[in-house]
Amino acid sequence: MFEKEKREIIKGGMKLDRYGLVSLAGGNLSMRMPSGEILVTPSGMIYEDMVESDVVVMDVNGNIIEGDRKPSSDTEAILYIFRERADINAVIHTHQPYATAISLIQDEFRADLTTLGNACRGNVKCTPYSSAASIEMGIDTVKYLGDQLAVILSHHGVMTVGDSLKQALNAAVYLEECAKGYLAARACGEIRHLTDDQIRQTAEIYKYVGQGKGQIPKELLGREGVQAQ
Ligand code: 13P
Ligand code: ZN
Repeated sequence: MFEKEKREIIKGGMKLDRYGLVSLAGGNLSMRMPSGEILVTPSGMIYEDMVESDVVVMDVNGNIIEGDRKPSSDTEAILYIFRERADINAVIHTHQPYATAISLIQDEFRADLTTLGNACRGNVKCTPYSSAASIEMGIDTVKYLGDQLAVILSHHGVMTVGDSLKQALNAAVYLEECAKGYLAARACGEIRHLTDDQIRQTAEIYKYVGQGKGQIPKELLGREGVQAQ
């Protein structure tokens, strides 16, 4: 069952590797099906070695429906997120090094680069530390996520979410790109900030970017558009 979606998850895992967001078997991916089942990657397996039957199908309470593999050790946290947030259909956990490094020095990654506002919908919070495989990872994700699409799990990695796997993947890849730029700038001097309204504008405009999303309303654009959302 769900062969197409299982392939999408495995391909997503290979993309995490390709963009330097995980090494070997780090991180995990999960997706909610329209009929409510949750697909979760198996624990400790390298994405390029995975086949469809390795992806575990369960209900939102963790009862296995299909699959012989042991699911991700973060399953309890992942299921907590799906139970608490009906709007979320995909959760990605990575160990992306640059974004994670930000949690070693501060509590929030401010969206002073437009790409962060675009892909994550604004400032990204760092959660307090909790160990891998703990339900706290999920509880803190829900607590600190707000309307954004990512949190940084302090000293560990990142959780991104989306209404689709594509949206969660987008958030993870672009969060890392912005973290690289931010840390490079910070190493050289003081950071200059966008205003809160400018950050909201970046998030609003991005709702219209991509195929099938309509034209960006003119009144949202430019310096005039900063107050218009
Ligand atoms: P799993 O392979 O069990 O999902 O663990 C990876 C991980 O990143 C734990 O936090
Ligand atoms: Zn992890």
